[in-house]
Amino acid sequence: MSELLSLDDLQALLQRHSRTLERLTELLLAENKIHNLTRITDSESVRIRHFLDSLAALKVLEPFAEGRTLKCIDIGSGAGFPVLPLAIARPNWRFVSVEATGKKAAFQRKVIAELELKNVEVVAERAEELAHQKRFREQFDAALARALADLSVAAELSLGLVRPGGRLLAWKGPNIEDELKRAQGALIQMGASEVKTFAYVLPTAPTPAHMTLIAAEKTHPTPPDLPRSFAQIKHNPLK
Ligand code: SAH
Repeated sequence: MSELLSLDDLQALLQRHSRTLERLTELLLAENKIHNLTRITDSESVRIRHFLDSLAALKVLEPFAEGRTLKCIDIGSGAGFPVLPLAIARPNWRFVSVEATGKKAAFQRKVIAELELKNVEVVAERAEELAHQKRFREQFDAALARALADLSVAAELSLGLVRPGGRLLAWKGPNIEDELKRAQGALIQMGASEVKTFAYVLPTAPTPAHMTLIAAEKTHPTPPDLPRSFAQIKHNPLK
């Protein structure tokens, strides 16, 4: 059974950062008219489906942090989610945003300059390659993966970047049982043997959206030959 998270106090956090977030919304919707970055095109939906959904991670990361500042890496951050709302809400934490597509990474850099965010670095490379570079391998308290890939694939892409004791957080919809079962082998081979799930509800109209955050705890180092190349990860997921 998943633990149920209440997002009520995050609404106040959104309110506290409303000016920065409104500017982010403007930049996102303007860019969206040129390059299709998101299907979500009205500001209230952006607030709930992008901002509140991104900040939901704090309900899992804050208890884990126990007051320490965290170093997080967002894998496949697209137009900047969840990384940008989290970086705005937690200016003392440090974030690396990994996005393989150049135009999306460039958009994030523009936003970061404009909003004067000092705690995010954008890296326009592939996560599975960064995971073999010393500067990145097992350097992060948490990896974040929203709409990245099936969990078995996301686990291999992400967990080589997480330090033992750290967490992989994956954003999912309501029905995760099959996906979790399929990802068991990948999680364990990458060093993450403890999995918890957290349910939450986004107050979308007309019907609320039921969501799940999967939190995998890295208990062992990742073997040096993992992750593999993207072609192998995708066509032959770890079992
Ligand atoms: N996290 C964002 C975007 C999801 S779309 C959101 O929730 O809105 C997935 C993104 O991951 C795409 O932009 C794609 O370019 C990027 N991506 C996929 N595989 C990747 C990899 N191996 N390394 C880096 N980025 C990757």
